[in-house]
Amino acid sequence: MSKLIASSAIRGAKNIVAQTEEMLEKTIADKGKDLHFEFPDTAFYLPMIYAMTGFAVKKLGDMKVALGFAKELLHPEPDEKIWLPYLGEALDSGMATLFAEEIMLALRYINGLEPCKEEEFDFTYNGFITDTIQRNLGVQLVDGTMPGFAAIIGAAPTEDIAVNIVRELQEKNILTFLSGQSDGDSVTKQLLRKGIELGWDSRIVPLGPGTEHTLYALDWAIRASLIFGGKKPGDFKEHLKYQKDRVFAFAIALGQMDDLKWATGAGAINMGFPALCDTDVPVIHPTGVCTYEEVDKEFDHSKIVQRAIELRGLKIVVEKPPIPVSYGPAFEGERIRKEDTFIEFGGQRTDAFEWVRMRELEDIEDNKVIIVGDHWKENYEKGGKMPLGIVIEVAGRKMQKDFESIIERKVHHNINEAQGLWHMGQRDINWIRISNAAKAAGITLEHIGVILNTMTHYRFKSIVDKVQTVIYTEPADVARVREEARAAYKERDHRLGSLTDEAVETFYSCLLCQSFAPAHVCVITPERLGLCGAYNWLDGKAAFEIDPTGGNQPITKGEMLDPRYGRYTGVDEYLKKASGGAVETLNLYTIMENPMTSCGCFECIVAIIPEANGVMIVNRGYSGMTPIGMKFSTLAGTVGGGAQTPGFMGIGVNFITSKKFLFGDGGIKRIVWMPKSLKERIKEDFQRLSEAEGVAELLDKIADETICEDSEKLLEFLTQVDHPALQMDSIL
Ligand code: SF4
Ligand code: ZN
Repeated sequence: MSKLIASSAIRGAKNIVAQTEEMLEKTIADKGKDLHFEFPDTAFYLPMIYAMTGFAVKKLGDMKVALGFAKELLHPEPDEKIWLPYLGEALDSGMATLFAEEIMLALRYINGLEPCKEEEFDFTYNGFITDTIQRNLGVQLVDGTMPGFAAIIGAAPTEDIAVNIVRELQEKNILTFLSGQSDGDSVTKQLLRKGIELGWDSRIVPLGPGTEHTLYALDWAIRASLIFGGKKPGDFKEHLKYQKDRVFAFAIALGQMDDLKWATGAGAINMGFPALCDTDVPVIHPTGVCTYEEVDKEFDHSKIVQRAIELRGLKIVVEKPPIPVSYGPAFEGERIRKEDTFIEFGGQRTDAFEWVRMRELEDIEDNKVIIVGDHWKENYEKGGKMPLGIVIEVAGRKMQKDFESIIERKVHHNINEAQGLWHMGQRDINWIRISNAAKAAGITLEHIGVILNTMTHYRFKSIVDKVQTVIYTEPADVARVREEARAAYKERDHRLGSLTDEAVETFYSCLLCQSFAPAHVCVITPERLGLCGAYNWLDGKAAFEIDPTGGNQPITKGEMLDPRYGRYTGVDEYLKKASGGAVETLNLYTIMENPMTSCGCFECIVAIIPEANGVMIVNRGYSGMTPIGMKFSTLAGTVGGGAQTPGFMGIGVNFITSKKFLFGDGGIKRIVWMPKSLKERIKEDFQRLSEAEGVAELLDKIADETICEDSEKLLEFLTQVDHPALQMDSIL
């Protein structure tokens, strides 16, 4: 059976290698072999070639060498080996295809042909996926909100079928990449014709019009093992194993198969990603170490998504509240413009607030929605705007007052995930919109309560036994209850401010990223949140109550060995176990000696600048140069993978304004450079802290990219403003 496919794959591989060679020769003749090339915002050169061979393609001339590897991989004859991942020393012609495609796409970038456009729709494809996007999505990948990835190649038989397939993937929270086929119709074009919102926010990402553009999805996959897995470039067996074990990807190939599709598919199968086709292809059964069919077929398009998910062995349970619109994270990023708005609440247009309050079990009627006000139905039907107070009342035997804020923070996601509902802000500065389309689909005011009840139960199963939502609609009621809510917010903030590392006996770990970075452990303390910024100490505490065997475990502090550097016996003991021996000891408050490890989804990187006797901080999303001569992406490539790297550390933004930030090294006085946007973001808290530390002018003495991007100018500036770091003990 597979002989036939193998011949087709090998033919496809040979063709694309030959085409690429021709393009390469032409480009070299044009631009010279020394022309430098980088895909946009990546530290990993041509990622597939780099991961598999360890060879860093930096110039056109290097592409020639890399294409040589591809040629070596071409098998003269159909060979059973092609279907056996990891067997034998050689990679196969599927991999040769991926190498050639990667070079071809690089050449297309050089020649200004990528990312491609769909002129007819005034639409630009995503093209290469940047490291920044990959890191932005890090937490969603590990915490299960994004359980897998689909690559759809080709076109569905009709536009409606295309829409149904992606809607189903969206509702299952799967990130979907689209590619193929240049010479005919494609799912991308079908969705564009139907006016479906495409892009990262909706989790449907068209990569390019050709089959070869599927490579961008595989390039994204392979960087997971480089970024999060800490796998060495060139260690191809380790990379392939990581892909198979941890990257839950699969392909759906729609329409007739051709040589290039088979050749690209062979490369994907080599990485452990199975393919489901809607045409009559030979099924490839489990072989060797593979436990699932690698190629299978399904003619019924209403079953194709479910079959593909089963093929890859994904288990997906999605909770959807009983409402008349679609629901899921894929609808979270959806915007509702003014003219599409049926009704809105808050956002300085009307009074509004949202508040989670703990009550006694007997005070709550489970799942009830109570709407207070005489004319709320008529008022809602009129549309426009309306005051709105939302009180979510929860009770449970394991519920604690500390968890109110955590449940409240989810209100944003709960509401936003409904198609046609939009939410911004929190507490008494919230803003909600309901679209005309959602209204037409039958969304009522009560549904807001239904959503909040259902999702609060679902997300907080073991701490919330009962929940009811009370919605106020009369101006006087909203104003009155809002005062109660404000008093509660204040009390909460006060409690949070008094939480210090010294005041508690227990820290929490976060092991979520171990699914991608097996040796990484975040140690989360009241004064240090997880490096992704998504989990603080209270979150850790609540998560442990919700799921005692889950990713957040208590760490008994034990004895304090070093108050300045923040070393505790309990933390060390825990880490040794939880990191599988990779980390022996940890200092919480320094960057210089045994600092916290980094997985890859850090919001910021702190790096020392020895000549300035201080550190710089650069945030993800800042794409410019930094004074140490590296951009965020390059720097990030050197800190990830769960290793301790003295002098470099990934952190969450809010850690910068903690008293414990680099406490052992002298605290915030060590900061000499930060991008302007980051300064803006933390301004208020930073000012409070610097006043408390007796350096009220500090923020103005910290350089940014408008002042300098190199260390020489940085030093000039620091001297000029008399930055405190210059007077401190040596950081080394
Ligand atoms: Fe990953 Fe740490 Fe964030 Fe947990 S807290 S998700 S381990 S980065
Ligand atoms: Zn992480």
